[in-house]
Amino acid sequence: MTIERVGVAGAGTMGSGIAQLACLGRHETFLHDPDAAALAAGEERVRAGLLKGADRGRWTREEAEAASARLVAAPRLEDLSGCDLVIEAAPESLGLKREVFDRLAAACGPETVLATNTSSLSVTAIAAEVERPERVCGMHFFNPPVLMRLVEVVPGTETDAEVAGAVTALAERMGRTPVRAADEIGFIANRCARPYSLEGLRLLGDRVATVEQIDSICRLGGGFRMGPFELTDLVGVDVNFEVAKSFWEQSFHEPRWQPSPIQAKMVAAGRLGRKSGRGYYDYAAGPHRADDPEHDPPPANVSEWSGSEAVGLDPATQVAALERIVCQLVNEAAFALGRGIGSAADIDTAMRLGFNYPRGPLAWGDAIGAEGVLSVLDRLRSETGEERYRSAPLLRRRAAEGRRLAADA
Ligand code: NAD
Repeated sequence: MTIERVGVAGAGTMGSGIAQLACLGRHETFLHDPDAAALAAGEERVRAGLLKGADRGRWTREEAEAASARLVAAPRLEDLSGCDLVIEAAPESLGLKREVFDRLAAACGPETVLATNTSSLSVTAIAAEVERPERVCGMHFFNPPVLMRLVEVVPGTETDAEVAGAVTALAERMGRTPVRAADEIGFIANRCARPYSLEGLRLLGDRVATVEQIDSICRLGGGFRMGPFELTDLVGVDVNFEVAKSFWEQSFHEPRWQPSPIQAKMVAAGRLGRKSGRGYYDYAAGPHRADDPEHDPPPANVSEWSGSEAVGLDPATQVAALERIVCQLVNEAAFALGRGIGSAADIDTAMRLGFNYPRGPLAWGDAIGAEGVLSVLDRLRSETGEERYRSAPLLRRRAAEGRRLAADA
């Protein structure tokens, strides 16, 4: 299956970044948006992004100009008819995406691969009513696509192996790192990242530590680029709440994914994060915090955290705030591995490249030791009586067998 011409349907934040990558991957790239102003703005973003990258030394000026010359603005969806592969990056609505796929299937040849950049909808559901659903596949980029190297390749139940292979090869030509994810809620990265904000909210709700303390513990103690609350402010408190509700509903109320009343209260108060000037932090007066001091890399060992983290240590369980977050991240990744959401290597790669985690959660679990993670979870479960701390069967098994987590079955 040869992919030469690439189409991108939707020229917004994601579509324009994806089109830039396709141009850089030496593909003639047709960028479509039904909104003329959005198409013009998207085209401008691609061209400006290519020049900016050349200024920063990411590629040469000649490469930028050659890539720019490969971009074609397509005012009508039907203008994508000659493409070998089309990536849909239209708004996140099942009805709208199904309509786009229907029209693409009618306009393009039967062999054209149709990919979707959806983050939260089922690829299988998008493909269900398309003629030849075997040529539909998920191709999930991260924001901003030009800087984030991860692409999740998500075959639906009908997707042909050759089609998934063509999507993987295209991601590689775009200079990305593809991983293979199952078509389940949140794929790999968004799913395995759930505990970061939710466990932060539980620590806050349990009054173990303040917003500022939890964020700085994650940055300084854990090596994360941002704490859960400042990250939520950046994404949008309302957006984060909608994602949380969607996981909860789609999973028929999985206890690990239960949203927090704190989120509902913040949204009701209009504290939506940076975009509204106020979220967990106040942005009216400029930067929300001072720069962090230089610090050593975080310890891998649970006992070191417990000893050093005077702030955020729960006297009842002797579990430190960071241990709680990291052990829940390891647990979620162990659930994902046990359920075949991705391979061990792909799960760790997805979290490092999709969310800049300092280490993959399974490798992190191995550094702590599966038994250590299990002991933290068991203490939390026994103290709180909550199902959300139940351990993944795979974690328990590997701890008993003394086997590594970052290894496939
Ligand atoms: P966006 O609102 O920036 O862009 C969407 C574009 O689609 C707009 O320009 C709009 O005019 C256009 N559009 C509307 N109807 C269309 C149609 N019928 N056909 C083609 N285009 C149409 O949205 P975005 O953030 O770029 O998100 C696009 C998709 O990417 C969504 O499915 C989203 O879930 C997914 N995604 C977003 C992010 C992110 O962080 N923004 C990350 C990964 C995936």
